[in-house]
Amino acid sequence: MTSRVAAVIPAAGSGRRMGRSTPKQFLLLDGVPILVHTLKVFEASPLIHEVCLVVPQGHVEQCREELLEPYGLKKVTRTVSGGATRQDSVYRALSAISAEAVRVVVHDGVRPFLSPELLKRVIHASEKGQGAIAALQIKDTPKYVHDDGRVERTPDRTRMYLAQTPQVFPKNILIEAYSKAYVDGIVSTDDSSLVERLGYPVQVVEGTWDNIKITTMDDLALAEKIIRIRRSEHKRAKR
Ligand code: C5P
Repeated sequence: MTSRVAAVIPAAGSGRRMGRSTPKQFLLLDGVPILVHTLKVFEASPLIHEVCLVVPQGHVEQCREELLEPYGLKKVTRTVSGGATRQDSVYRALSAISAEAVRVVVHDGVRPFLSPELLKRVIHASEKGQGAIAALQIKDTPKYVHDDGRVERTPDRTRMYLAQTPQVFPKNILIEAYSKAYVDGIVSTDDSSLVERLGYPVQVVEGTWDNIKITTMDDLALAEKIIRIRRSEHKRAKR
């Protein structure tokens, strides 16, 4: 029998970088809130048993009425208010997921183009009790730069990846990593880094170029283009 997998979707950011009063996760993409695109992938996945959604304080009820019920998102069994940082938001969700969950998938609410196939690959890679993350090998040459703009060194790009989500971990390890981060005063925007610092292994799974995080209005414009590309690919495939 496969072990129970819970998804944690942090979507409690304020969207300040978007320059809008509506948090970006609620902005429409192809006529549907960005967050709904993301949640639908989890709703449809047979590998996910429950979803804990984290939304901005004061939005829990509105979310239920305007997103979860109208779009039939039944796997979202818990909706909790987020904290000041992404780390605080994920930590709140970790205490809300069911006791039976054995593994946890963390995925940003503002990454709506997660493919079912990538989700599956990352979950499968975590099956041996290790962490697994989607990450993209970088194409440009990275530079490690001093505060004054001087290049300090050039890391080997064949070993450099950009971390994405989903990131999957055994629940007990993720809770331990988060608790330890608070004890040690560590704040991170990347779940994996908290697990890595305790010495647990984390496996990289090649991510996808379109699994973008919508942060600015430019990202939203790119997201609309990705929708159009996907639609024309879909049409071509049906011909
Ligand atoms: O801040 P960033 O754009 O990296 O956010 C990644 C995800 O974390 C977003 O889905 C955002 O809504 C969420 N977040 C959160 N709580 C915060 C800040 C960000 O849940 N305090």
